[in-house]
This record gives sequence, structure tokens and C-alpha cells, in this order.
Amino acid sequence: VDEAVMEDMKRLEETFRGISDRFRLVNKIGEGTFSTVYKAEDLHYDHYYNDWDFDREKNNDHPPSKRRRLGNGQSRSWSSHPKRKSRYVALKKIYVTSSPLRIQNELELLFDLRGCKSVCPLITAFRHQDQVVAVLPYFPHTDFRIQYRTFMVADMRCYFRSLFTALQAVHKHNILHRDIKPTNFLYNPERREGVLVDFGLAEREGSDCAPPCFCVNAPNVRRFRVIGNHYSTHISTGYPKNDSRPSRRANRAGTRGFRAPEVLFKCTSQTTKIDIWSAGVILLTLLGRRFPFFNSADDIDAMIEMASIFGIRRMKATATMHGQVFETNIPTIGEKGYGWEKLVVWSSCLQSLTESEKQATRLLSGLLELDPQKRLSAKDALQHEFFTNPID
Ligand code: ADP
Ligand code: MG
Repeated sequence: VDEAVMEDMKRLEETFRGISDRFRLVNKIGEGTFSTVYKAEDLHYDHYYNDWDFDREKNNDHPPSKRRRLGNGQSRSWSSHPKRKSRYVALKKIYVTSSPLRIQNELELLFDLRGCKSVCPLITAFRHQDQVVAVLPYFPHTDFRIQYRTFMVADMRCYFRSLFTALQAVHKHNILHRDIKPTNFLYNPERREGVLVDFGLAEREGSDCAPPCFCVNAPNVRRFRVIGNHYSTHISTGYPKNDSRPSRRANRAGTRGFRAPEVLFKCTSQTTKIDIWSAGVILLTLLGRRFPFFNSADDIDAMIEMASIFGIRRMKATATMHGQVFETNIPTIGEKGYGWEKLVVWSSCLQSLTESEKQATRLLSGLLELDPQKRLSAKDALQHEFFTNPID
């Protein structure tokens, strides 16, 4: 462990009252925008493990606010966590700059998802002054940046079976994760299973208060729309300077390169399908052997990348679907886009695709579908021939 990390862990143990009584920090395992994550040994593991089942039965159906006072005066939070096999935990130190509402949101959604096998459960959470630490079971996993090059189609099948199983469970609760990407899905190749982590941006479907987006209409109704838009997205040589139109607000949280087209087009009726798009981007990375696949600096750049693949015609149709206008004068973007097989071949520098890669590419095209209503759901994806009738 390098010295700066040792210093950092020591500081946390010293400043966060009570933490060193219960945990011994081992290493830093992650650093994100909103948190730092440490691997730690739970020093109370044996004791904790023994009274766990008893505690759990009584607490299972109570919301997070209803905590039970324990005999020793400590309050223990809710959790749904099945028997813990390891004494190691991940301590997620949420930065004090995160709003309390955001932290509460993450903890509440995780409470809703308790019992979902492929969602990393929350063991408990501690607060010391303005600092919050969430305690999660530690999941051994491999770093995607290292493993993605060696992934065979059979490995992709295991990875995505696990990911779509997790998403199906989350979406069944009408929850959008909003930040599906490799670092938020901890995959263990030996167990061929992964768990979803990081519900920091997650939200319930339908939580946008703005008027519904035009895209909620059935595709045949959308076609008869009179063009007369309030909003506009310009990709041209510059942005309109004196644009008096009201700008539309929509949740655009997520990670660059993984955002669905409806997120870029500021759709106010985003659904769980945005997670499916992001899962599609992961599959594209694996098939195309390129990480990150999309590498845009901002939303406009991301639209240009998308337009280079799908072509102007389909991008315009997508924009219209969300009540927007898409214009571009970039000469290299064609009217018609390219097929996925061709793109995967180009990206991966392969001569041609095997039958199993072609099958995976057919799944890919169902995931990276511009129209969220036509895009596969997690349940549909699991019933795709790629899983039910694998060619290997
Ligand atoms: P952030 O909001 O900062 O992105 P995450 O919850 O995504 O925080 O965690 C950041 C990183 O920490 C993950 O990408 C992963 O490498 C590691 N991590 C998080 N939770 C666990 C866990 N339960 N077990 C092992 N590693 C974890
Ligand atoms: Mg994360």
C-alpha cells in the first residue's frame, strides 16, 4: 500500500469517531466523483455474524428511519443482507460535498432493493458530524480495463446474463440506476457473477416533474406531429447566441459515453431503458475491443459520435421524437448510418466475425436502439437467442 494511501486511511481512522473500534482499513479500492472506497476488515465480524439472523427478521420490513436500539446503546440500521461470507467490507466514504438528500436517496433506494441478489446490499451506515460512511460487503472483482481485451464471447454471455439479471430486478422496482458502466458492476470471472453498486444517481421512474416528453406517444402517433418546436439542439458551426426559447431541463446525470440518446436530447420521460443503452455500450466495448468506445467531451460531441454511427436521418427522427431539432453541417456525417456488424469489424480490426460474434452483435443492435420504446428491456434481453440458444 503506498504511503499517501496509508496516510489517508490513518486520517480517516483517527477523525471518524468509533470507526477504528470496528474496522481495520486495509487498502483504498476506489475513488470516484462522490466517494472514496476502502477495503477493511470487520473486527466485529464473528459477533456480528452470530446475531445477524435474529436482528434481520425483526427489521426486514421497516423503513430506514425505524431503527432498533440495541441493548448496548448503539443503533443498528436496517439491512437485508444475506449471511455474510467474508469478514471484509467495503467502506464507502461519501464526500461531505454530496447533498444530504442525495445520500438519503441512495440509502433509501438500496433499502427498496434489499433482497435483490445481484445488487450490493448495504450492511449499515455511520455518520460522524457531516461525514457519512456506508458499509458494504466486500466483493472481489477484476478491473474491467484489464479484463476486457481477453473476453471471449462465452465470457460476455456470463457477464451480460448477470448484468441483465441485476437490471431486471432493479427495473422491476421501477428504479433507474442511471450510471451503468463497468466500474459500477463488480464482476467476478471465477464466479461468473457480478453485483451492481453505486446507486448515487439512481431514481424512481417518473420522478421528473416536467410535462411528459412527446416520445411517450406510440410510434405511429408520433409520426403525425406538426413540426413547431420550442426547443432546439444545434450542432452546427456554433451555438445560437440570442436564443430566446426556454431551455428544457431534464435529468442528464450519468457518465460521458454511456448516456442514452434520450438523455442527450433532454427527454423528460426517461425510463429504465436508459440503463439498457448503457449496458449496450459495454457490450460494444467488448465486441469492438475499444475502451472507452465513446469518448466525447460533452453532450454535443456525444451526439456527433452517435450521428456518425446512425446517420443524420435517424438522428433527426430521434430528436423529433423528443420534441427537439437535430441539425448538422459536418461533412463526414452521412445521411445513412452503418450496420453494427460492419462497425464491430472496423473497431476490433478483425477480418470478419464468427457466428457467435454475429449473434452477440444481433443482441447489441437491440440494446443500442435509438427509440427507447423499441429498445429491449432487461427481461427481453435475457430471452434473446444470445442467451437461450447460444452458438459457440
Ligand atoms: P462512486 O460513487 O465514487 O463511483 P462506487 O460505489 O461506484 O462509488 O465505488 C467506487 C469503486 O469502489 C468501485 O468501482 C469499486 O472498484 C469499488 N467498490 C465499491 N463497492 C465495492 C464493494 N462492495 N466491494 C469491492 N469493491 C467495491
Ligand atoms: Mg461508481
